[in-house]
Amino acid sequence: MSKDVERANEEPRTHLTSVALGRPPAAEVDAGTDIVLTIKVACPYGCDLRGRVINVIAPDGAVVAGSGLANFADNANETTEFAFTAPDEVGEYSWTLVFPKHEAEGVVHEEGSLPITVKTLAHDTSLAVWGVPSPIVIDHPFRVHVGATCSAGCDLKGKEIEICDETGASIARGKLGESPWDGTRALYWTEVDVVAPAREGATSRSIRFAPTELRLPHGGASARFGFETVKPPQYSVTVKVVQKDAGTPVEDAQVRLGVYFACSDQTGLARVATAQGTYSLDVLKTGYEALSRVLDVNGDVTVEVEVAIIPPENPDAYWLFDPTKRI
Ligand SMILES: [Zn+2]
Ligand SMILES: [Zn+2]
Repeated sequence: MSKDVERANEEPRTHLTSVALGRPPAAEVDAGTDIVLTIKVACPYGCDLRGRVINVIAPDGAVVAGSGLANFADNANETTEFAFTAPDEVGEYSWTLVFPKHEAEGVVHEEGSLPITVKTLAHDTSLAVWGVPSPIVIDHPFRVHVGATCSAGCDLKGKEIEICDETGASIARGKLGESPWDGTRALYWTEVDVVAPAREGATSRSIRFAPTELRLPHGGASARFGFETVKPPQYSVTVKVVQKDAGTPVEDAQVRLGVYFACSDQTGLARVATAQGTYSLDVLKTGYEALSRVLDVNGDVTVEVEVAIIPPENPDAYWLFDPTKRI
């Protein structure tokens, strides 16, 4: 009897515990990256619970992380900052932070728990295409470089990329290589062979991660690239570039015939293989007046063009020429 009275005057032998967040986790994190937090545990009697471990428990009961209560201040215990890894897939996930029931020195601390929810996000990913030749002969194969990089710095080697036509149908695939492009932190890349469409004109293609990779948080990224397709060249056009009045050959002049392109050699000759048609023939070289004329090509042809040196006070004349202009 007296023992019961004594006990009534003591603190209760069972203490409830409350679990709270010290540093709350971010509401949204990149999929597969760290969720960082600290957890606080307290009982109404302000017990020092340092050394006790608090667990992060997944809905299936698995313990995904644990951290010891390390600090005790103002009658509350707190873990240091710790992290566990968010799932690789995009979605909303919940865990329960559990302080397990434990007994020490005749005092029972009851289990305390707190649910947390974190959303995982797709990574900010970009795809790029470079080294696209243009023009490309219709129905002919060509090769492009494709690369992908992720803001979370993911290792993307071996991930499959596909190239799609205007309808979204896959026309080529490639796997990103082992190591990032020189001078970049994480631009994983590969070369992909593509076949040009069987019709002339401007075409665009898109790239994206292959559907097999859509489980990744990178699936949403895409990029486009364009090129021009032309009929196969049938004829050879030889352009001899000479200096006006002097008649001397002009070397290293850019000679453009529509979308075709060549440079003059030391004898002033530039040879361009081209299909039948009417073209804008443009010749340009720094320090010379740009020349533009129309040329009908119905067979192999040689033309001589004279270019005049421009006065030094107009050195920008070169840039007034628009090489994209086409007849
Ligand atoms: Zn207590
Ligand atoms: Zn990533």
